[in-house]
Amino acid sequence: MAQVPVAHGIFTWPSGEPRLIGSRCAACGIVTFPAQDSCPRCPSTAMAEHLLPRRGRLWAWTTQEFPPPAPPYAGSTGDAFVPYGIGYVELADEVRVETRLTTMEGLRIGIDMELVLVPFGAADDGNEVVSFAFRPVSGAGSGV
Ligand SMILES: [Zn+2]
Repeated sequence: MAQVPVAHGIFTWPSGEPRLIGSRCAACGIVTFPAQDSCPRCPSTAMAEHLLPRRGRLWAWTTQEFPPPAPPYAGSTGDAFVPYGIGYVELADEVRVETRLTTMEGLRIGIDMELVLVPFGAADDGNEVVSFAFRPVSGAGSGV
């Protein structure tokens, strides 16, 4: 069984230390995630690929109590759905990333978080789909 990314262009793959792939506007410097073709803040379309830091700080979070709209959501639904944490992690004062969280325990605004890849179900061909998430750097998470 091989691992395949949930989508291409979201994070570097394959990689021992994956990084989220954002974009940065050459005109005004704003950083976006996911990467965009045109700047959300100015008229520029000069967006260059910009790898985001692997660590950041927790900005806000909540619990996803029901399956989000699909697509883009591709996880379990119905009785198989398990509530999970979602949050915003601020990376290097550049950009806030909406992300799944590996745990809901020990979370506090401003704690250090790091990027991890987590299993996200099985693909039609039997490969394991992996997506990204953030966990507290303290290691208090689920130990994925
Ligand atoms: Zn811009």
